[in-house]
Amino acid sequence: MSPSSSAPAESLPLGEWYRSAARDLPWRRADFRRDFGAWGTLVSEFMLQQTPVNRVIPHLDAWLARWPTPRALAAASPADVVQQWANLGYPRRALWLHRAAKEITERHAGVVPRDVEALLQLSGIGDYTARAVAVFAYGDRHPVVDTNTRRVIARAVLGQAQPGPPSRHDLERMDALLPDSDHESAVFNAAAMELGATVCVARAPRCEICPLLETCAWVAAGRPETEDTRRRQATFEGSDRQARGAVLRTLRNAAPDSVPLVGVLPDWPDPLQRDRAIDSLIGDGLAEADGELLSLPR
Ligand code: SF4
Repeated sequence: MSPSSSAPAESLPLGEWYRSAARDLPWRRADFRRDFGAWGTLVSEFMLQQTPVNRVIPHLDAWLARWPTPRALAAASPADVVQQWANLGYPRRALWLHRAAKEITERHAGVVPRDVEALLQLSGIGDYTARAVAVFAYGDRHPVVDTNTRRVIARAVLGQAQPGPPSRHDLERMDALLPDSDHESAVFNAAAMELGATVCVARAPRCEICPLLETCAWVAAGRPETEDTRRRQATFEGSDRQARGAVLRTLRNAAPDSVPLVGVLPDWPDPLQRDRAIDSLIGDGLAEADGELLSLPR
């Protein structure tokens, strides 16, 4: 279905549902917005990119307590940043966030920019995060599309069990559904995500409590099974990611000291994989080698 043939916004009555059913998450609270502004939104979106909400919340609190502004984070050392990221996973995000904080400090006088194009110029910020900051922090009207939104649109509008691969049509489809007012469009963006995260979930959608049940195209079509083109999550156990995480944990535990290279995971079952992990961490700037010693980046 082309974006122009998407259902009109009034056929997706999500605003009222969102106001009564949305989870009470820190970044949605007034005091969080007051205390941390767009910086809080940006940090939370970085953390939420690949980490579940429940694991993010305590780390977000600690991070913002330590670095409540871009300027504060920009002044931190890379080692402190990687240390504080702890076990949130995909630790390159910590370095990108650090770089973004420096860029915000240098180019934007310490104020997170509002313009999507300016946000896209910052390290580690892609289309989703740039739009999320412009919409959720500044209240501007843009389509924001994450995995959950794509699934809701696939089912409620397109009548498919699962979304196809990400494409430029995702933003166009969401744009066609947005209410006209800035405020209501921000609510609609958040509501579509929330519905996908809590009701229209991937495996067993809870249609019986869904505010879209009466109009859902997939339900109306008899819930046909359509091709599932989602990428499978690679197994963590035994992966290079697991080895990288273990090396980084060793360095965090030893910090601020270095660790002799021979002392890094000496019993790891696959020494080649361990060495590959060390090399890739150094390549990513997450670890630093000095002769026979390895440490967090200085
Ligand atoms: S009715 Fe079911 S399939 Fe349709 S949007 Fe709601 S939860 Fe998803």
